[in-house]
Amino acid sequence: MLEKARQLFMNSFGCAEGVRYFFAPGRVNLLGEHTDYNGGRVMPCALDLGIYGAFAPRTDGTIGLASADFESGKAFRFRTAELPEDLGGTWTAYALGSWLSLRDRLQDEPEGQTEAARNGRRVEAALSALSGGFDMAIASDLPTGAGLSSSAALEVLTVTALCGLFGIELSKKDIALTSQRAENVYAKVPCGIMDQFASANGIRDHALYLDTSSLEFEAIPLELGDAEIVLTDSRVKHSLGSSEYPKRRRECEESAALIKREMERLGEKPAETLCSLSSTEFDRLSCCIKDPGARRRARHAVRDNERCRLGAEALKRGDLKAFGELISASHVSLRDDFEVSCPELDLLAETAWNVPGVYGSRITGGGFGGCTVSIVKKSSEELFKSKVSGAYRDAFGIDCVFYTALPSDGARELFI
Ligand code: ADP
Ligand code: MG
Repeated sequence: MLEKARQLFMNSFGCAEGVRYFFAPGRVNLLGEHTDYNGGRVMPCALDLGIYGAFAPRTDGTIGLASADFESGKAFRFRTAELPEDLGGTWTAYALGSWLSLRDRLQDEPEGQTEAARNGRRVEAALSALSGGFDMAIASDLPTGAGLSSSAALEVLTVTALCGLFGIELSKKDIALTSQRAENVYAKVPCGIMDQFASANGIRDHALYLDTSSLEFEAIPLELGDAEIVLTDSRVKHSLGSSEYPKRRRECEESAALIKREMERLGEKPAETLCSLSSTEFDRLSCCIKDPGARRRARHAVRDNERCRLGAEALKRGDLKAFGELISASHVSLRDDFEVSCPELDLLAETAWNVPGVYGSRITGGGFGGCTVSIVKKSSEELFKSKVSGAYRDAFGIDCVFYTALPSDGARELFI
């Protein structure tokens, strides 16, 4: 992939001096789904699959972009001073949005307070270098639109590379926040922080047990013994997802506001987010959410947050059986309460549950298509794959694709 990115760079932009190489991974989330915008916990790990990029700085105020995976590697050129307000719906919006988000971040920081300034590089100098532009050519082995966060990988890759090229020192946490803002503001997708955080902060052989309200995380060793993490790509993506995601988010915000008001009415210290409630507290207060659908969604967020906490404890004591049961329970909750599953994902998960040696299986990512994640005994892997792919082909006529997830390090420069 790196060679592919290098070749594409040469073909698109010529043999520029000072080309540097970077990589940013996709992620799989093991537990805690749709909790990241409800102030809850999540448990992603970065993958060994991701996007590779060749980058070089420019000084003429233009940005050159090419992706081997889109429009047959066609190269685009933009003027940094004339970027349109609306970047449109194509892939270049993620890369340009990342550049804009990094520029915004530098502009917003009072002089002398950024890490860039602390490290002896003045914000002004960084901004001026940034506005010189850059060229970027990328190639990926991460499936896009499969719920493994290729969009976050692209943003984190761009921000990490720009920081590297222009000597801007941002912490991994700030790289994640800058990348999330690129997706929220410029690609206009109201995602939470999990995906970008995992892509930037991943640690080999660990899951990141992340509290999305504080952005504190604990790296939990993934000692799975005789088991491994298998991803099954359904290869479907229902367009419903892009309209339902903002709807779910809004419903959760409205439910949180109703509960807050109810707690104030009862003279209690109000909870700021849904996920700061325990299941018991939620069950006591949830009657203030009159709409049964909205109540079920809020219940999912609260319970999946608890499942994530219990899952972290189970992993630490090496209890894969308990961990797997929580994973499967999360699928049921996403299917019945949060209603973000689809017949394809249900069949993949439900078939997996019935294969001996499978600890648990569920949707990972936003839902409405994409991947399931399963914890499978290595000795059952072949049986798992044949049962799941057979049942899926019989039901939908589609060949699913399997990946073994290797928890890996986050975004980084590659030296060749
Ligand atoms: P996911 O993040 O689950 O993979 P999204 O729909 O959020 O799915 O993001 C996919 C989009 O990200 C693609 O349609 C494309 O615009 C952009 N993208 C991802 N990978 C690449 C790539 N290798 N080259 C160019 N754009 C990419
Ligand atoms: Mg995405």
